[in-house]
Amino acid sequence: MGALSYDVDLEDIRFVLFDQLKVHEELAPIEQYAEFDRETYEATLDEAARIAREVLAPINAPGDREGCRLDADGNVHTPEGYGEAWRIMAEGGWIGVGSDPELGGIGMPGVITMAVVEMFIGACMAFEMYPGLTAAAARVVAAHGPEATRRAIATKMFSGEWAGTMCLTEAGAGSDVGENRCRATPVGDRYHLEGEKIFISGGDQDLTENIVHLVLARTPDSPAGTKGLSLFLVPKVRFDDELALTARNGAYVTKIEEKLGIHGSATCVLTLGTQEPCEGWLVGEEHRGIQIMFEMMNEARIGVGAQGVAVAATATRYAIAYARERVQGGSVRDLKDASAPRIAIQQHPDVRRMLMTMKVWTETMRSMLYRLGQRADVAERDADEDKRRRYLERVELLVPILKAHCSDLGFDASVMGLQVLGGYGYIGEYPLEQLVRDAKICSIYEGTNGIQAMDLLGRKLRRRGGALFMDWMTDGQAECAAAREEGFDQAASALERSLQHCGAAAMHLGGMGAQGQLEGTLLQAYPFLSMMGVVHLGLEALSQARVAKRLIEEQGETPHRKGKLLNLSFYVANLLPQASALSRAVQSGDTSCLDEVLFT
Ligand SMILES: Cc1cc2nc3c(=O)[nH]c(=O)nc-3n(C[C@H](O)[C@H](O)[C@H](O)COP(=O)(O)OP(=O)(O)OC[C@H]3O[C@@H](n4cnc5c(N)ncnc54)[C@H](O)[C@@H]3O)c2cc1C
Repeated sequence: MGALSYDVDLEDIRFVLFDQLKVHEELAPIEQYAEFDRETYEATLDEAARIAREVLAPINAPGDREGCRLDADGNVHTPEGYGEAWRIMAEGGWIGVGSDPELGGIGMPGVITMAVVEMFIGACMAFEMYPGLTAAAARVVAAHGPEATRRAIATKMFSGEWAGTMCLTEAGAGSDVGENRCRATPVGDRYHLEGEKIFISGGDQDLTENIVHLVLARTPDSPAGTKGLSLFLVPKVRFDDELALTARNGAYVTKIEEKLGIHGSATCVLTLGTQEPCEGWLVGEEHRGIQIMFEMMNEARIGVGAQGVAVAATATRYAIAYARERVQGGSVRDLKDASAPRIAIQQHPDVRRMLMTMKVWTETMRSMLYRLGQRADVAERDADEDKRRRYLERVELLVPILKAHCSDLGFDASVMGLQVLGGYGYIGEYPLEQLVRDAKICSIYEGTNGIQAMDLLGRKLRRRGGALFMDWMTDGQAECAAAREEGFDQAASALERSLQHCGAAAMHLGGMGAQGQLEGTLLQAYPFLSMMGVVHLGLEALSQARVAKRLIEEQGETPHRKGKLLNLSFYVANLLPQASALSRAVQSGDTSCLDEVLFT
């Protein structure tokens, strides 16, 4: 067996972007994207794929082995090769690929940025955390930072001169952000911050000359809970009005965590104001910190969804490549013939089942991710106000599902990929072992998947009296009706039934909530999210199969196009049935695990 090398499924990425979503036509009426055509998008994707293969993939395994190091002066050193990769990414404009050209970005639509980011994460997830968080923080700074300097600071961040972090978590404030204790005391035109943030990704590094920490903290006499939180821009190095660096600010890393995966991403304890004063500037208005931070978290949650997709895609490519080469056992047809030729494991039905599951997960999740990216573009920039609102609502409904369901399936796909490699999957010589370790964090950070499920049930489903959910159901039914007209009777009927299961489960939980059975309702939040995720990906499989069928009729069959029809059959037969099982569980009324005798 040769070593497995990272590769990108550009054929499928192009199919989703140009055949299915028709990005080049759909976004053309939007002024900011009018000058981009398909050729420009394709060239961007090709170059991103090259960077992923040639720059990021080579630092992935060595960076995992080396990890980050904190020196005696409190400086974090990233693994060898990270500095050079950052320089190449910054010079190529990849950190600001989706941001405003007036702020030094390239201005690509979010949907293209999704594809680019998917490739970068797939090549080296730990590295991509630095540019990903920097771009998200820069957007917050550009929108809400101090008036006089916000655009200039954001430009430095998008160009890769400075980096960014998000600092919410404290020892006593994880999922419960309202427990934040960090203090911010006004001193002249700025604030002095004191406290300790933990688990801060990129809390320090040696890639940039400065870091902009976005820190949630509490001003004096603030109300308790999230309502009392404000957001502060806290630089690692202070700067003057021209952004020339002056003196070190009092935000120091005192520890980096040893952890399961993403070893190249420094996860830091950041102490504020203990060694020397830590200055910060208010971002937005006082007590509006959590609303502003939510903008960044929303983007970061979509980014974690992208991590799930990227991990699944990478695991699938590795597993297929391995299974083609690894020879073990004979065909079941030759069982009685000991001298029959040995075959590649990809010919064994059970291995094909695993490969197909991974392929179908990857391709349906990719479709969901990019579609959400395109909807976000329209929601932000379309001229039609009503369309903007409808698209934004759909994005808001789907973000917790994308974050949680895709991160869970990304991890499941990495585990399944490891299984395909057998014992070789478990050892460090092959990349699946690292992928499994790296992937696990996705269900935990940016709000655990349990918290996402509560967000879906407690906030998104109740928005406008349930209208967001009803609109999703209506669009799903319309997709099924259109598919039936095109000869997809069986799949359309199965998906319609699944949508009915979703409706019944939502009604049931709504009824329980109305009766005040809150614990019983929240008990079913996660199964409910999974059920919607299963159905949503089924609808994506249907949408892709419809496009492929049309292309086959117009232009002829290719393995990739036929693969989309097979994806749909496989999904409906093997994966979609989970939806009815989950719906039954949600409606079971079982509250056994809430009994007080347990877990005492
Ligand atoms: C590698 C890594 C990188 C990170 N990067 C950052 C970063 O850059 N910035 C940052 O601010 N933070 C970061 N974090 C922190 C991360 O966001 C938190 O770990 C996460 O929000 C969970 O908080 P916690 O660890 O305190 O778990 P807890 O909140 O203690 O949760 C433990 C368990 O209880 C469940 N739970 C908690 N509350 C509830 C509830 N009300 N209802 C139901 N279930 C509940 C959770 O779902 C979870 O399963 C990072 C963490 C790691 C490990």
